Amino acid sequence: MTYGRLFETGKQELEAAGVSEAALDARLLLEFVCGTKRHDLLAHGDRPVERAQEERYRELVKQRAARTPLQHITGTQEFMGLDFRVGPEALIPRQDTEILVEEVLRELHDGFRILDLCTGTGCILLSLLHYSNDCAGVGTDLSARALELARENARALGEENAVFVEGDLFEKVEGKFEMIVSNPPYIRTDVIDTLEEEVRLHEPRMALDGGGDGLFFYREIIQKSRDYLCGGGRLYLEIGYDQKEAVTGLMREAGFAEVTAVCDYAGKDRVVYGTLCSL
Ligand code: GLN
Repeated sequence: MTYGRLFETGKQELEAAGVSEAALDARLLLEFVCGTKRHDLLAHGDRPVERAQEERYRELVKQRAARTPLQHITGTQEFMGLDFRVGPEALIPRQDTEILVEEVLRELHDGFRILDLCTGTGCILLSLLHYSNDCAGVGTDLSARALELARENARALGEENAVFVEGDLFEKVEGKFEMIVSNPPYIRTDVIDTLEEEVRLHEPRMALDGGGDGLFFYREIIQKSRDYLCGGGRLYLEIGYDQKEAVTGLMREAGFAEVTAVCDYAGKDRVVYGTLCSL
């Protein structure tokens, strides 16, 4: 079968399964299997595909049609221009989270210490370290398997200034930090069953579930951050689109100043940050 024809069959199968970006995913899977690039579909659509590659492609399209996330099939996700290994062990890095990293980078000075709570794949901490000088960071997570992934990502990126620690939020953390960052679980428990299958069935529930009101981790992190931030240090949190009022309120109550919310590129409230007043 030709490359172009194979793409069409993949696209149709994904469309029939109700996959939202069927054409895109069909093409990305084909490129993954054949080691080709985007322009190959236009320029070389009539070239034949080897039998083994065709079979492999059909197998992967079936997995995607059964709603396995594309990134769990290919094993990677790009984030802040860097390649991260991903898997069912940790949340797949979201483009929305890049806005958090970009906001932190504006205020991240050489030599700062960064604490990343609920680090997952390590994508936030590792990209901050990658785009700064002489900073060092600690990433924590309750999941040992997520941390294996984070350590693997650190090795692959050649990032030596990141330490990953297994524990519940601050449980195993010592010392003070100029920056604390987190994309904690923040989906309300009752909303989880309404999420798309890719997320609901394939991503770790413990990376999503923010408790009855979705705010469980914000309360913990905001209160305890005070003991782990240097005076004048900053706390940056990713939030859900409807959590700005609640999270800015919690930060102000806890004594943070200049509490600010930032929208993502879709125009949704996505990040809240503030500065710990030094007493
Ligand atoms: N943004 C993620 C989602 O929509 C949730 C991330 C989180 O809970 N931290 O699935």
